[in-house]
Order: sequence, then C-alpha cells, then structure tokens
Amino acid sequence: MSLEATRYYVQKAARILELSSRIVKLLIDPYRIVKTGIAIEMDDGTVGNFMGYRIQHNTALGPMKGGLRYHQSVNEEEVESLASLMTWKNSLLKLPFGGAKGGIACDPKQFSETEIEKITKAFTQKIKEIIGPYQDIPAPDVNTNSQIMAWIMSEYSKHYGFTPAVVTGKPVYLHGSEEREQATGHGVVILTELLLERHQKTLKDCTFVIQGFGNVGYHAADILQQQGGKVIAVSDVVGGVYHPEGLNIEKVRKYSIEHGSVKGYPEAEFISNEQLLTLACDVLIPAALGDVFNKENSKEVNCQFIVEGANSPTSPEADEIFHDRGIIVLPDLLANGGGVVTSYFEWAQNIQQFYWSKTRVVNELTKFLTDAFNRVEKAAMAKQCSYRTAAYMIGLGRVAKAQLTLGL
Ligand code: NAD
Repeated sequence: MSLEATRYYVQKAARILELSSRIVKLLIDPYRIVKTGIAIEMDDGTVGNFMGYRIQHNTALGPMKGGLRYHQSVNEEEVESLASLMTWKNSLLKLPFGGAKGGIACDPKQFSETEIEKITKAFTQKIKEIIGPYQDIPAPDVNTNSQIMAWIMSEYSKHYGFTPAVVTGKPVYLHGSEEREQATGHGVVILTELLLERHQKTLKDCTFVIQGFGNVGYHAADILQQQGGKVIAVSDVVGGVYHPEGLNIEKVRKYSIEHGSVKGYPEAEFISNEQLLTLACDVLIPAALGDVFNKENSKEVNCQFIVEGANSPTSPEADEIFHDRGIIVLPDLLANGGGVVTSYFEWAQNIQQFYWSKTRVVNELTKFLTDAFNRVEKAAMAKQCSYRTAAYMIGLGRVAKAQLTLGL
C-alpha cells in the first residue's frame, strides 16, 4: 500500500509543478534494486536464511542515504516506497543526498545478539560494493540501532580500511554524533512547537498521544514532557497506556525495559492501539510502522494536529478525510527529518574527523528544521495546498531541476 501512496503523493505534486510525464517517470523509477539472500549459522547449529534488500532510488543530489529496517514485514515494495520517500525528504531538507532504504525480513526479537551480529555482517558483505561514504550511507530505522551500525562499519572497514562515514547513527564513542540517538524525536518536538506557534498554541497548552515507544516515540515523549507538554498515552506493538492527567515518561520507559512492553504499567489504564488512535488529544504522533491511518479509522481520529514521526502512516484516502475534517497533518517528509539531518552532521564530522558539541548539533538541527518548516508553510500558503503536497512539491522540484541539469 505504501508504494502506491508515495507514488500518488509524487504524482499530485508533479501535476502542480507541471512536470512532464517523461521527467516524472525518471523520478519515480528506482536507480538500483538489490535483493539478496543471507544465510548464517544459528546458535543451535541450524542454518537461518533471510532476505535482505537495499534499494537506491535517486542520485541526482548526491550519494544516497536512508535507514535500514529489521522487521518480519519488510518486502521489496515497502523498501522501494521508503527509498523514494528518502529522496524527497533529503531534497526538502536541502541535504546533499539522494534517497535509499534497506531492510532484512526477520524478527530480531527471536534472535540472540550473536545471531543479529552475524546477520548484519553477512548482509554488509553482500552489499559492500554498493554502499560507501560517497555512494550510499545506511542509518538506523525500525529495530536497528547504534550497535548494528557499529557492526556495519566494522565489516565494511575490514574490506576498505577505516571508513566511519559508511554508516550514521553509530555510538557517540565510536565516531557517532552527539544527539543522533535522540534526533528524530527531538526534531518531532522542534517541528511540533513551530506548528503550534502558528496556531497560537504552545507545547504546555497541549495534550499528546504517541503510537510507538521506540527510538522516535520514546525520545519525542521524553522531550515533550521535559518541555512541559502533557503526554497522556503511549503504546508499543502490544498495546498502550493512558492517563488523562499525563504519564511519567521516565517511569513508563523503565517499566517497559524491565517488562518488554508498556503493558501492565501500574499507574495508567491499558488500552489497545486502535483505542489509542482515537483518544481525544491536541496532537497525535504516529511513531511506529506505516499504514496506520486508513479511510475507516481516520473518521474516528479525535485530535487537531497529526505529526508524522513514522514514515508513511497515512493513506491518500485518510489524508483527504483529515483535510476535510480540518485536522492539520505535518507530513513524514518534514516531521521525522531530524534523524537524517543529524545523520548528515555525523557524516560530515566523520569525513572531517572533527567532532561537534551537543549544543552545536542541536543549534544546527533547529536551523535546518526551521528553514524547511518555513519553506513548506510558504509553499502551502502560495498554492493553497496541504503541508504534505507542499513538502512533496519542494522535494520533487529540487530533484527534477538537478536531474534535468545533469542530463539523463
Ligand atoms: P523502533 O524499532 O525503535 O520502535 C518502533 C516502536 O513501534 C516500538 O515501540 C514497537 O513496539 C512499536 N510498534 C511496532 N509495531 C507496532 C504496531 N503494529 N502498533 C503499535 N506500535 C508498534 O523504531 P523507530 O526507529 O522508532 O522508528 C519508528 C518509525 O519512525 C518508523 O516508521 C521509522 O521509519 C520512522 N523513522 C525513524 C527514524 C530513526 O532515526 N530511527 C528516522 C526517521 C523516521
């Protein structure tokens, strides 16, 4: 579904930009699709077989960049859609990158750390010729983290010598950047504050509901709470917890680490993920997987703003329904851009071997996101369109211009 949705949004923006069908076709098709089998010896001596993907979408603006996801639902169509999304996102954010995405179809929760290391290093072996600091730079996404990025750096460096800039999202003590871990969630908060400001509201006036309590969801919740926002519900794959007076995010986090889920957290009511999406709140933040809002549940959503921490949570039908209902959506292209912006800083620091302070990273991140937000808002006003269409128009327009200038 998400590939169809991404193409729909691209076509819609292309029509407003009056791009020719020739250039649109060029922009839609991916540059390269790599699909590779991965075989490793499991801890019990059996052989584990997995399918891995790296899809590189467009190179017009620079080396390609995008996350790597480990999840049982990973498939070629989804990875292609997410790779395309990265092209428009990197372009919108004015980063010197094209778009790519990768994934391995597996459920890492079933494996030991040794098995995950073997899967990661075997996959790196298979894709090493097509990644690199000036070719394609992976980063963390669902179920991948700084440890996995360190294994990729280690395996790649065995073949090509010390190359920290081949991946971003590494541990800070191993050539990572200050703030990269929190950056996507932090970016969600920076952009939410800008959005609320435009509607004469502040974080302190609002209630927040967050689906997904991983890297993006947890850090967004934590920073929102530190800045005075009232986070009334969060969830993970098992379900959610709700307290109308606000949750203590640190306590929920501690509980979920100890018990493997937020389910059972004693100081709140347990709710399902479906219930969570329809809770009354000011800001709803999807921060889990894609394909969350469809034409049915979008009619039941009960908030004023949706800030898309997750990639591709909204189907085109749901997007129309939100528009008709006056629910303002800050789209994924912009809302979760804090991660890739800080990955760009990490890449630049690795290339220069000169490291920035946390304050410098946060200041630069705020500048990049504020600039992108202002440009999206201006385009949305000028064309009387949604933030999503405006974000796609800017992203697509810059890539189309570069592609036409470079030639076929
Ligand atoms: P993560 O693996 O750290 O966390 C995912 C969370 O979602 C977990 O709490 C998990 O339990 C929950 N979840 C999984 N399936 C669910 C379901 N069906 N219903 C409810 N919750 C469910 O992943 P992440 O890095 O936080 O990524 C979350 C989203 O943000 C993804 O869409 C990803 O593409 C996007 N994103 C991540 C980054 C990043 O820097 N990590 C950057 C940009 C966008």
